[in-house]
Formats: sequence, structure tokens, C-alpha cells
Amino acid sequence: MKQVVLVRPGEFQLQEIPLPAAPAQQALVRVRRIGVCGTDLHAFEGRQPFFSFPRILGHELAVEIVECPNNPGALSPGDRCAVEPYLTCGHCHACKLGRTNCCEHLEVFGVHRDGGMREFMYVPVDRLYKSNELTFDQLALVEPLGIGAHAVIRSGLAPGETALVVGGGPIGLAVAQFARATGAQVHMLEINPSRRALISRLDFPVRANPDAPLADVVFDATGNPQSMARSVGWVAHAGRLVFVGLVEGTVAIEDPLFHRREITLFASRNSAGEFPRIIALIERGQIDTSSWITHRMTLEEVPELFPQVFRDPTCFKAMVEVNGPPVLDAHRDGPRSTRDTSREPGFQ
Ligand SMILES: [Zn+2]
Ligand SMILES: [Zn+2]
Repeated sequence: MKQVVLVRPGEFQLQEIPLPAAPAQQALVRVRRIGVCGTDLHAFEGRQPFFSFPRILGHELAVEIVECPNNPGALSPGDRCAVEPYLTCGHCHACKLGRTNCCEHLEVFGVHRDGGMREFMYVPVDRLYKSNELTFDQLALVEPLGIGAHAVIRSGLAPGETALVVGGGPIGLAVAQFARATGAQVHMLEINPSRRALISRLDFPVRANPDAPLADVVFDATGNPQSMARSVGWVAHAGRLVFVGLVEGTVAIEDPLFHRREITLFASRNSAGEFPRIIALIERGQIDTSSWITHRMTLEEVPELFPQVFRDPTCFKAMVEVNGPPVLDAHRDGPRSTRDTSREPGFQ
């Protein structure tokens, strides 16, 4: 099978290897889509903390089941699934509280363990969420949408409240979409004009500079320490501030402002148990993913195109497509089959 390995910062390698032996109790899946995001860029640039090389990137995954032993969720070959890429220990303080998204021993596919930039991989069965209604593109967006869904849950946002989302990248837009689905009035702040255009197409009021009343809840999705510090200033008295984006280093907050308004500050990390709800919301059309994907490449094109795509200011979400025969054929031929890998418009 083919795989793309980040062998060291700045260098991807396309490799051909035999399919590894199956670990016990895991499903064999054919990877179909891999969304790429800032985490992957940071890894590529050697700026991702706790990251070791070589590593296969890819944590925003849409897959097709090839083989699924011991399978309480009744997954069959050919079923389409989103992968929840978080592997949790189940016994630490956070896991016992049900807060598995901040497990003390959390491992994430594509970060701490090899991820999905390959034709086939093994995934624990309980990390697979099926929807044969969604496209592979939509299934690959469930993970980044989950970051937004979780941030909104953390904030306790209520219908009729006002929300300001600072930063209109994919995570900011995910926050905005779930905040609106909650019934809040949502405004956004984004300096990049092509992102502002994309956001306005989804009918979110968006500005380059804040000049509006203070918001009940402010979500900062920039991962920029200056922006995070400034975000305190947009929170209403008795309001909440959620840091969704994270930054290496210190965020300095103006304490008199923080105290005078008695602001509640939340961190928000990953998501926990929200994949089924997110899939249902996309299936019902309440979360619109139509304008998310701006750039595409095949697995084979990753070494060449990945660096270019991230330099393009019009890039919102890039999707890696893994081609190859449909799973039922692959299953019959054996997963090592290397048939024609031309694009298959029927699978998207
Ligand atoms: Zn991501
Ligand atoms: Zn744990």
C-alpha cells in the first residue's frame, strides 16, 4: 500500500509498503479523505510540541470499512465512517469524569501515533462512526466540526445570547455554525478578505474590526496570543470567554477588565462523544459544509502540493483524496491490490 510519511520537518516521502499485520480487535479500513489543518502545518514546519519523526499525518479522516471483526455496531464492508482520532486511557482523572477529550494520556492519530495519510489503516472499532448518507468529504469534516461543537458546549451558550467568534478559519467557522444551531446571534471577526467572503456566503455577519456591542460569549479561534489577550475586551459584563485556539507560550490578560466584568474563562480542547450528534446535524442539513473545501490533492501529490497549498491565502480547507478501487473490490482482490488510481467521481 502507499503511504506518505513526514520523515523530518519539511520533507514528505511517498512510500510503498506491504499491508502491516492486523492488531487484535481492530477494523481494517480504506482511507478515502484526509482533511489537513494547522496542526499538520505545524508538524511540517517542526513547530508542533511533543511531536516525533518519522510520522504519518492525518487526523481528519473519512474511511470505508474493509474488515471489521467483533463488531457490536454492525459495521459491514463498504460502510462509510468518520474516525474519532482520540485514543484515551479510560482510567485517569479526566477519563473517570467523562472528560476524555483531555485524557492525561491522550494519543491522537496523526499526532502522537501514525495517522491516515495512507491507503489502509487499522482503527479500534469504537472510534468509527458510520453514516452512509454523508459524503466522504463531509465525514472528514466531522472531526474539525467537533472542535467547534465542543467549544460551544463548554461555553453553555443559550438561545438568544450573543456570540462573537474571533478568527474565521475552519475552527472559527465550526464554532459559529454550532453557536447558530444553538439559537444564538453570532458575529465573526476575521482579517483575511477571502475568508470574510466565504463566511458571508454562509450569512454570518463578519467584520475586520470589532465595533459592535460586547458579546455574552466570545470564542477566540485564532491561536494568536495578542488576539487572545484582546478578546477579553469584547466580553460583556458577567460574560464568558472560550480559548479554542491554543498557543505555545503566555497569554497576558488585562486583569482589571477581567475582574470588573467578572468574566469566566474556559479552555476548550478536542471533543468528547459528539460525533453522532454532529453527523445527525449534517444529515439534517443544519450544518452546511458546502463551502468548506477550497483545495484538493491526491495522496501522491502531498509531497509536492502540501507546502504550496498552505502558502495560498485563499485556502480554507484542503482535502487529500485517496483513490483506488471501491472497498468491496479491494476486499476481493486483497488490500495490496494496486489497480488504476484515477479519480473516481462516484465516491466523494
Ligand atoms: Zn485538524
Ligand atoms: Zn485518560
